[in-house]
Amino acid sequence: MLVVLTSEATTEQRESVLAEIRRLGLSPRLVATPPIITIGGRSASGAQLAAIRNLAGVTEVLAEVPPFPLASRALHSERSRVEIGGVIVGSGEFVIFAGPCAVESEEQAVTIARAVAAAGGHILRGGAYKPRTSPYSFQGLGPAGLKILAAAGHEAGLPVVSEALDEASLELVAEWCDMIQVGSRNMQNYALLRACGRMRKPVLVKRGMAATVEEWLLAAEYVLAEGNPNVVLCERGIRTFSDHTRNTLDLAAVLEVHALSHLPVIVDPSHGTGQRSKVVPMARAAAAVGADGVMIEVHHDPDHALSDGVQAILPAELADLITGLADCIQLAPRPERRAPARG
Ligand code: PEP
Ligand code: MN
Repeated sequence: MLVVLTSEATTEQRESVLAEIRRLGLSPRLVATPPIITIGGRSASGAQLAAIRNLAGVTEVLAEVPPFPLASRALHSERSRVEIGGVIVGSGEFVIFAGPCAVESEEQAVTIARAVAAAGGHILRGGAYKPRTSPYSFQGLGPAGLKILAAAGHEAGLPVVSEALDEASLELVAEWCDMIQVGSRNMQNYALLRACGRMRKPVLVKRGMAATVEEWLLAAEYVLAEGNPNVVLCERGIRTFSDHTRNTLDLAAVLEVHALSHLPVIVDPSHGTGQRSKVVPMARAAAAVGADGVMIEVHHDPDHALSDGVQAILPAELADLITGLADCIQLAPRPERRAPARG
């Protein structure tokens, strides 16, 4: 159950609503932005609901809400737009995030950044902290990598996004980048998600490789509940019995997210397939299903990439993809035909 307060509700009004709900024998919890009170535990009677609805400062009482109220369309029927260094995701324009899996050197990052900008990409990606399966694999350049990425983005005129692995790297990513990425392996790192919620930079929440859509939206809820409304989701494939691709790219999840949530969702066909030849077709499919953008790994010399070279496409392939995307975007379901908000 959820109690929605007016944004003008005074501290005294909030406190007295909380006290009154407690007096009714219920257990309320205040979530600051937007001002709502969640009530867990036993459900309220009709008389209790009516009493709460009449309190000063209360606009609405919702008996049935999804477990992720802030991410859901129940309180926010319009689709959210998230600004990343001047680029808006969720406006209806398809946004291309592209760049190397990992920042390897200044020369590599600047070469790829220029190629991404020339191809028509909008946001430069590049990992400085790499969560590698083997502790002996290249782990990223750390703080030096972030500085190189920021400089390459500046040089190419592109905002930048990079992954934070823990709370220490989060501070640096938030300082040097326009967007903070939470990777698949950290989607259930609730301390990290909460810390991202206290940052002012937008957050890209990648789907956990074994997470349901509900668990993924609950991860976003952790960020939103701490007061950061700027969350973009990223479908990057899940683990299934199918072994012809690195992961199974779940494009139907885009439709599900758009039906349940106001948050924008992009697709990562690079980690979703793990194979260069499948990246462009799946990026086209992501556009056709209505994703708000794609995130693609690009390398000018993939055979010598320090990570994920086999799934990196060449800059010319990125340029081709972007040139031909308009036809795919045309096929996407119109936002107004998506499931309506609570009726
Ligand atoms: C990445 O985008 O660099 C990455 C490591 O992806 P994921 O967290 O989806 O595996
Ligand atoms: Mn990668």
